[in-house]
Amino acid sequence: REWCVALPKVELHAHLNGSVRDSTLLELAKQLGDRGVIVFEDVKDVIMKNGRSLPECFKLFDLFHILTTDHDTVTRITKEVVGDFAAENVVYLEIRTTPKNNEAKGMTKRSYMNAVLKGLKAVEDVDAVLFDSILRPDETLSRTPVGDLDGVTKKKKIYVRLLLSIDRRETTSAALDTVNLAMEMKDQGVVGIDLSGNPVVGEWETYLPALEHAKELGIPITIHCGEVPNRKEIQAVLDFCPQRLGHVCCLNDEEWKKLKSSMIPVEICLTSNVMTGGAPSLELHHFADLYNAKHPLSLCTDDSGLFSTSLSNEYYLVASTFSLSKAELFRLAQGAVEFAFVDDEVKKFLRAVFEHVARKGL
Ligand code: IMP
Repeated sequence: REWCVALPKVELHAHLNGSVRDSTLLELAKQLGDRGVIVFEDVKDVIMKNGRSLPECFKLFDLFHILTTDHDTVTRITKEVVGDFAAENVVYLEIRTTPKNNEAKGMTKRSYMNAVLKGLKAVEDVDAVLFDSILRPDETLSRTPVGDLDGVTKKKKIYVRLLLSIDRRETTSAALDTVNLAMEMKDQGVVGIDLSGNPVVGEWETYLPALEHAKELGIPITIHCGEVPNRKEIQAVLDFCPQRLGHVCCLNDEEWKKLKSSMIPVEICLTSNVMTGGAPSLELHHFADLYNAKHPLSLCTDDSGLFSTSLSNEYYLVASTFSLSKAELFRLAQGAVEFAFVDDEVKKFLRAVFEHVARKGL
């Protein structure tokens, strides 16, 4: 386990509101309870419960959004989530979040994202690099976790980029607003678009115009695919050919073949899939099949708070379930750099980090 924590890692699939610490959620619930907005005891039990079905998860997200959706709290959770990932040696983080309009809070999609940006700038004890990606390689290396391994206690460094999520409950026009916002925020760390939300809600045709627009604008796209066996949509998503796919749980033989020949990188979320029933068990998770087929993969947490996991734990689970060696785990982590939506300059630095660790050993 310690080795998995020390391993530099790349996180490509983490939802902001799903990655909030339980302690923070409880604190926020207590405050709202004291103000009579919610009944704290009921909410406490829901937050602390282990094991969640897919429909339960989406009910929980509605609750989380009640707790977290004001500007100051969005800033706070962003800061904490980035700090938590950096603490376990994630060197590159793509955090995704759904920009939200909330009239009662005077919140627009843009002001929501400004609160996120404020959180990124407020990260303490860690260098969170959002804009200034150009640093000397030796500077990067001395300030990454590698610095710590050399016995020098320095600030950890994490590159953070943002993906804007379209929620499946949204209209075409709201989805288009999100894509336009992503374009507007290109120079502020936004590197892509995600389609997520309750997979039994909404129609592919509703989001398609926004996704096509993103494609035309050259914005990279990742799509939640096959969380439920919706044949028509899985087919449409594979035909759309996004830059990455999340989950790919319920594919039939033909879709499986199509995915493998497409070589679209897959964001694998083991714990999440097992907890929500997308995979029958860890042992029978489709990771093994894709890994053996040498399909491009990256291990991800999805919702580390909601599922009480961490990226280090996901690596540990893969090692213990599928008997991967340290060298294989290292290659898995290193390989994920190539699927990041970030510019080549940052990728070069991340490659250098992994090469440095490979030379020095962990
Ligand atoms: P937010 O975008 O920061 O509010 O993060 C929470 C949101 O992410 C949820 O409301 C869902 O729309 C989305 N989400 C989180 N986990 C999943 C998942 O496993 N499948 C689909 N959507 C998800």
